[in-house]
Amino acid sequence: MLVGCNESQACLGYLMKPLPPLESPRFILSFDFDGTLHDPAATPTVPTELFGLLERLHGEYGACWGINTGRNIEYLIEDLEKSGFPFFPDWVVAREREIHLCDPEGSWSAHEDWNSRCARDIERLFTTQREAMERIRHDVVHQTGAQWFSFEGEPAGVVAQSVEEIDWIVSRVQEHARAAPDLSWQRNSIYLRFGHRNYHKGSCLSELAKMMGVETANCFAIGDSHNDEEMLDGTHAGMNACPANAIPEIQQLVRSSGGLVCKGVHGEAVLEALRHYLAD
Ligand SMILES: [Mg+2]
Repeated sequence: MLVGCNESQACLGYLMKPLPPLESPRFILSFDFDGTLHDPAATPTVPTELFGLLERLHGEYGACWGINTGRNIEYLIEDLEKSGFPFFPDWVVAREREIHLCDPEGSWSAHEDWNSRCARDIERLFTTQREAMERIRHDVVHQTGAQWFSFEGEPAGVVAQSVEEIDWIVSRVQEHARAAPDLSWQRNSIYLRFGHRNYHKGSCLSELAKMMGVETANCFAIGDSHNDEEMLDGTHAGMNACPANAIPEIQQLVRSSGGLVCKGVHGEAVLEALRHYLAD
């Protein structure tokens, strides 16, 4: 499946491409976007210095890089251009579970095998666990002011009104999910998306590493929030980091897995972590 970004790129009057393809990547670099690479309050939103460093790591270290995000790919690509990226990532993990690969011409295609398996497993899960999901939905709708959403390709999710409210919702979800052990959820700030426990930022990173023949020890990951937990627990990447603005739970996780809690925030932390692990 081709993602409809070429059309929007054409509208923007340019065609962005990735860096030249690597014959055999030696490292994989996985970056969370919102709150990590990208700070909407900063100017520029992504430090310009990062682009040169990525190019150097790509050329000299064989580092294949990508963005591992909760956003859908169209929304991410829009902001890559706005943030001044001069080239595309080699890959994107979107909605914390779908893998997309960029070809040398800048066209995106889905990793069909992984993405269709993921969609199938989620569909099966939500069919077999209808009762547990209904109990969760009932609590959210009747006991909170949060918004419940469900549409094609996104079977269930929540937008809460506050962090306190989402904390309460997660506690109820944990209770109901005992009856549905394959059910998982990805949380980021006041947003929560339900899915299957086999698909998350971490398992997507490992799938990419397997495809490219890169060892876990040579995988780097950095993120700041709940939905980065699986990517940063040491299972899927041997080099883990978080920015100083990461939530306390992530800082604790990174520390306990022997990773780097950066002094800098957002994109500055990304530069700091890459220099610490790879390009000092
Ligand atoms: Mg984030």
